[in-house]
Amino acid sequence: MFRKVEESQTLLINTQSRNLVAQNKKIYKFGFGQSPFMPPKQVLDALKNSVHHKEYTSVQGDLELREYMAEFHRSHNGIQVDPDNILIAPGSKTLLFSILMAFEKADVFIPAPAWVSYAPQAQLAGHHIIKLPTSIEKRWRIDPQIISEAAKNKRHKASILILNYPGNPDGLTYSKTELEDLARTARSLDILVISDEIYGLLDHNQAHLSLGNFYPEKTITTTGLSKWCGAGGWRFGAAFLYNNIEPEFKQALIGIGSETYSCAPAPVQMAAKVAYRSHEEIRPYLSWQTSILKKVGNFCSGQLNASGIRVHAPQGGFYLFIDFSGYREELQIRGISTSNQLCLKLLEETGVVLLPATGFGFDESYLAARLAYVDFDVPDMSIDFNLIEHSPRVVKGIEKIGNWISAM
Ligand code: PMP
Repeated sequence: MFRKVEESQTLLINTQSRNLVAQNKKIYKFGFGQSPFMPPKQVLDALKNSVHHKEYTSVQGDLELREYMAEFHRSHNGIQVDPDNILIAPGSKTLLFSILMAFEKADVFIPAPAWVSYAPQAQLAGHHIIKLPTSIEKRWRIDPQIISEAAKNKRHKASILILNYPGNPDGLTYSKTELEDLARTARSLDILVISDEIYGLLDHNQAHLSLGNFYPEKTITTTGLSKWCGAGGWRFGAAFLYNNIEPEFKQALIGIGSETYSCAPAPVQMAAKVAYRSHEEIRPYLSWQTSILKKVGNFCSGQLNASGIRVHAPQGGFYLFIDFSGYREELQIRGISTSNQLCLKLLEETGVVLLPATGFGFDESYLAARLAYVDFDVPDMSIDFNLIEHSPRVVKGIEKIGNWISAM
């Protein structure tokens, strides 16, 4: 009678970690990826001063805010979007779901690894999922060949590809050439691309390129305040629709919004106006934040590689997708043959929380996991970030993983 819908794995692991903390166990919270950075002061103040905005806004969101967002992103990386083609919602997750729900039937191409919620959302919307297998050797990148091969399994007229970079869980991005290749393939197969660029402003080199610049005719870009502004709980996301979007598609998106969430919280939209009023003003906050993330991420990937755990150095966001396959036999001897068992044993024996690869589209036998390197308290912006002093839990947790695996 009821749909089978599990609680999102990321939330579940967060609950598990909290339970352990409640029992006074020392844990290293590398499971749940939540930004440790506070939104900039002027944005916090703007929210405080906006509580009296108790009215609904239009479903699409405040027009001035959409104008600011269009200009902010044009200045950030040249993406061209008409404010009239921006949708604001309580979180980009909601928008991703609305986009999927706007189709009666579609083939949805989802890379593996990919963020935990894409496949459940596509399933809830009743679509046919086509997995795009990638490999650690190819840096988890999908390429035209993978897409063309997978397209042979198509069942429906409409095709949607969900792309996410910098990636959750892999922390990697796409180069200009790779994006051009993807654009060419998507164009030739007439695929709508949802480009989830929620970590775009957290590109560690501040060099994020939007697919929308290479495939403007059919890319919807999603973004929001959850990651770069550290405000996941505020619930603010946006979708940039393409110019000349089919009027009935746009109408369906607005219709779904009007029948479900109505609008993003009005006070949060007012605060977002301050967050997005000037890219120039926000740039120092972003460079400060990404320089810290880059330092911590590179430390983690370097240490893990030295312990024989394979991982690519991160390029953006705050995740690593780490591969324990090199220790398959040793782990097997200890009764560990799935990523779930691996994460459970690691948690039990070291207190380190990781998310198993099964949540990201892999068979249980693939011994990999996602590590979020955000278990640190952010020092004041005026202070030089020092790994040992400011992220002791990350340093210790990584050491714990290394010692645990070396003792196999
Ligand atoms: N996409 C990715 C890849 C994410 O990691 C997240 C948050 N975990 C989201 C989308 C959703 O973000 P929000 O709904 O907070 O905008």
